[in-house]
Amino acid sequence: MNELVATVRALFEMGLSPGTSGNLSARAADGFLLTPTNAALGALDPERLSRLDRDGRHVGGDTPTKEWRLHLALYERRPGAQAVVHLHSAHAVAVSCLDGVDPDNVVPPLTPYFVMRVGRVVLVPYARPGSDELVTAVRERAGEDAALLLANHGPLVTGASLAQAAAAAVELEEAARLMLLLEGRHARPLTPEQVAELRQPPTS
Ligand code: ZN
Repeated sequence: MNELVATVRALFEMGLSPGTSGNLSARAADGFLLTPTNAALGALDPERLSRLDRDGRHVGGDTPTKEWRLHLALYERRPGAQAVVHLHSAHAVAVSCLDGVDPDNVVPPLTPYFVMRVGRVVLVPYARPGSDELVTAVRERAGEDAALLLANHGPLVTGASLAQAAAAAVELEEAARLMLLLEGRHARPLTPEQVAELRQPPTS
């Protein structure tokens, strides 16, 4: 099965893309492959994946997701990104609606795998889906780390492979769930030293 279709189905089966929400893309030899607009992600036909050329022109398959420009903005800002996963997964969306979070580091480093797979999550201010304003905000906020969280909307995660982007999106959803479970309690996140150690490549 096409890798993009298989990844989409796996995320759908985990309950991370309810209904027709969420969209994925991957770099291809001559441009990009994207999930089509209004497609039920549990039953995608590989023949109907949208194909865009390097300049974002629709050259085959169904009409792409309405959020396609967010994907292209990330590929432009991150030349090493091979895939983009965007979900409306419940816990990450819930965190994206919290007031008073640090917009430069929304999700605390509670577990080592979150630090290794996702890193720092930055918040992108709310703008209407599909708007120029949202595309500009994503372009401005896309830094080095894997994930952005669109305020009152959901996560946007890149990876050096499709598998890596999907794993980071799942890890972010779990971290958001932990963050909500711990709300109002005295959580003990990893220290800056512990985070720095995890961000170094292993020495042996
Ligand atoms: Zn969305």
